[in-house]
Amino acid sequence: MSGKKNSRASLRNISKAQVLMILGFGFIVVAAVILVSSLAIRKTDEVLKNKVISLTSSLNVQMKLNMDSYLSRMETIATLAFGESEAYTYDATDPNNDEYEAINTEKKISERLFSLCIMENFVDYGIVYRNNRTVGKISNGTSTLFGDKIFSELSSMISRPRTNDGWSTGYGNNFKRIYYVKKVHENAVLFISFYASELDAVFDNPETLSDMDIRLVNQDKNIIYSKNTEELGSPLPTEISSRIEGKISASVLDNEYLVSLDSCGGWFVVCSIPTPIILNEKNEMTTYIYFTAGVAAFLAVLVALLLSYRIISPIRKTVSSLDDKARIDLLTGILNKRSFEEYAGNCLANSLESERHALIILDIDNFKGVNDTLGHAYGDKVLEKTGEILRSTFSDDDYLGRIGGDEFCILVNTRFDSSDKFDAFLLEKCKELSSAYHEYYSGRDGDYKISASMGVALWPDNGRSFEEMYSACDSALYRSKKSGRDTFTFYDANTESEGTENE
Ligand code: GH3
Ligand code: MG
Repeated sequence: MSGKKNSRASLRNISKAQVLMILGFGFIVVAAVILVSSLAIRKTDEVLKNKVISLTSSLNVQMKLNMDSYLSRMETIATLAFGESEAYTYDATDPNNDEYEAINTEKKISERLFSLCIMENFVDYGIVYRNNRTVGKISNGTSTLFGDKIFSELSSMISRPRTNDGWSTGYGNNFKRIYYVKKVHENAVLFISFYASELDAVFDNPETLSDMDIRLVNQDKNIIYSKNTEELGSPLPTEISSRIEGKISASVLDNEYLVSLDSCGGWFVVCSIPTPIILNEKNEMTTYIYFTAGVAAFLAVLVALLLSYRIISPIRKTVSSLDDKARIDLLTGILNKRSFEEYAGNCLANSLESERHALIILDIDNFKGVNDTLGHAYGDKVLEKTGEILRSTFSDDDYLGRIGGDEFCILVNTRFDSSDKFDAFLLEKCKELSSAYHEYYSGRDGDYKISASMGVALWPDNGRSFEEMYSACDSALYRSKKSGRDTFTFYDANTESEGTENE
């Protein structure tokens, strides 16, 4: 290791800060988005409910107006029918009637009624006399339904004494028809009937409320009109009626139903829709809001990523280069003392028992003399050259450091399957180092000989910690110096005094 791979810890810290920053930003954005979405959904819920209530109420009012106008049309027809004095005064029960005149008058009355009602889809439109004689159009079904009680039954339908008329429905359990009766005189009633389905146009729901049930009910809350003809005549379902009990005009919204009620002509228009159907729209909106919020959060995190990358990248580069500068010896480009000791110490502390390492200290011989004789700048060049020699002699797995003025250290980590091979390898490396100085400096710059002395210690035989190894190595170096320099010595605790090898 020459110092390039040494800023990893600082960069790891920056990466951690970057991840924390992005996560924090993402968390804040997502939290903000959820908060805003929840508020939006709550507001949507409120707005939607209010909107539906007001729509239903106005629909109800509209239905009531439509119904009122439908009913008043009947009354207009009745009034117009009475415009002819003959229709008003003629009494088919009078025994003194001239037969010919009676036929003529009845024909006129029929034609009058026909001309008034031709455009309407009425089942019956005619005048019924006390003797059950009928003038105008009375269907076979009606005749069969009422039989010879037709006058009395129709007369009993007059419920409004002041206007002498009335509405009825559900005669003989036939709820499909609606009847209008108006007293002509003591012995005659005007009678109009139509199918409840005629009211489809009156109770047409707008498309926005197509899921809404619209019903017309009588005072007893029996259904007079419904699009579902099967329920005609049945009581209003209890889940609806219970919500409008005793009221004549109301709009009720709870978790299950929205029910709206308005009265018309003594009857009631009842609109109802299950609340979940209303909220379906809200659910769709909720999905949409959450989807939009999710996309927004994703984009925000993406922006945070890009921004953090743009901000952090230059910091990483600066830190990386500062870190390198702090760990590298500028003159030689290898580790400085502090870093070398740190890396070598950690490496030895974490080594397995089966591993082999060696520490080599190299000290340039008579370096003071080099400086004094050839100059300090030349001394620097010798140091730089030493860096080059070390780098070209050892591999990337080995640690190289300058630990003093002219003192260098190598922690050899290269692996071999046997100690003998490792020892042979070390011997070879020490020779290579010595030769490198000889080859480079022989014949250069006058006769000044430049060489280096080395001490070698083996791990774990000569020491376990870096300090123990260094101390063993230093003793071996001392021996090399003592034995005349330009040599290397392997530390030997037992025969240290004899442990010098000379080439
Ligand atoms: P020995 O053979 O016993 O090692 O003798 P020596 O003269 O080399 O003695 P020593 O190792 O103690 O001397 C180291 C010298 O290195 C002392 C100092 O002036 C010189 N020195 C220290 N740092 C630098 C440097 O960066 N550049 C140069 N040119 N000289 C340095
Ligand atoms: Mg020296």
